[in-house]
Amino acid sequence: MSSTEDSLFSKNLIDWYRQNKRDLPWRNTNDPYAIWISEIMLQQTRVDTVIPYYHRFLEAFPTVHDLAKADQQQVLKLWEGLGYYSRGRNLHYAARHVVEHFDGTIPDTHEEISSLKGIGPYTSAAILSIAYQKKYAVVDGNVIRVVARYFGIEDDIRSTRTKNEVQEIVDGLIPADSPGDFNQAMMELGATVCTPKQPGCDSCPLSVHCMAYNSAKTEVIPYKSKAKKVPHHQIGVGIIVNEAGELLIALRPEESMLGGLWEFPGGKKKTGEGLQQTVARELKEELEVEVQVYDKFMGLKHAYSHFKITLHAYWCKIVDGTPKPKSSQEIRWVSLEEISSYPFPKANTTLIGRLKKLDAENLFQFVSE
Ligand code: SF4
Repeated sequence: MSSTEDSLFSKNLIDWYRQNKRDLPWRNTNDPYAIWISEIMLQQTRVDTVIPYYHRFLEAFPTVHDLAKADQQQVLKLWEGLGYYSRGRNLHYAARHVVEHFDGTIPDTHEEISSLKGIGPYTSAAILSIAYQKKYAVVDGNVIRVVARYFGIEDDIRSTRTKNEVQEIVDGLIPADSPGDFNQAMMELGATVCTPKQPGCDSCPLSVHCMAYNSAKTEVIPYKSKAKKVPHHQIGVGIIVNEAGELLIALRPEESMLGGLWEFPGGKKKTGEGLQQTVARELKEELEVEVQVYDKFMGLKHAYSHFKITLHAYWCKIVDGTPKPKSSQEIRWVSLEEISSYPFPKANTTLIGRLKKLDAENLFQFVSE
């Protein structure tokens, strides 16, 4: 494109954005801290899901100083259900870094902001452009789709080469006078008009020169090769109840997946093993106890980014030994009332919701045997 076409692209796009943008809470602030929180929460997560979390988080931690002073468990509790929990841990860690090394000011240079935990090229470009009006173009799934269609790029958008090509294109298009609006406009267009299925080309500000639209290829561009099939694990966990009617929960190691969250102890089923055997073996390895495994309480499916699980929860009673945190940071006996104050991953919160519907008699049934 010529530079005149470049600036026409940006002008049409930004004019459209200013008239049509959704009223989202993080669009009503210039506070780099609030913009940072929103950008982290929006990674891999839908806008509608993020909004209540964003409000609750900023209410609890209105400034970077408040977040830096917070306890990690408090941060993770507010993150509960949002997924990708390393985002919450990294945000907390980075807030402390900002207070200690940048005097509580979110850095405004690429080098400094990229030194913070959890801030990669996309988030760095988003914060610098939106909060500080610096000319860094973002590339996410929405931007890739818009650019691939507009420029008629038919290569696999899963490949790094295609992503780099898109980055080069938007680096050349982003205007110095409104980089934040340009980036948000690209993402907004992708989210609301240039959607994966049935894009609204008739109301698109870019339709005149869009190659996919003008060659009737919007259904085949972008091309994305099939994802590899993700593994599906069977997980057996124990609901261990003591004589006081308390449940045993374990804190996952800090650096592991879902680190800093609590869970019901258990683990992956091995080939040839029955699920009750899995539970007994895992609890022996993790807690150094012998358990009697009773009936299954419930099973549920959950999908993570790189694998899926079916979680099978069994009632258990300790018949020998005192539980020790062999593979967790800590273990605790907690009542059903207290348990909700601890942060848990999604599959476990569903399980807890079901447990709370039981009456005390059900909970004690195995203990008194
Ligand atoms: S004209 Fe259609 S395909 Fe092209 S950018 Fe606009 S919405 Fe997307």
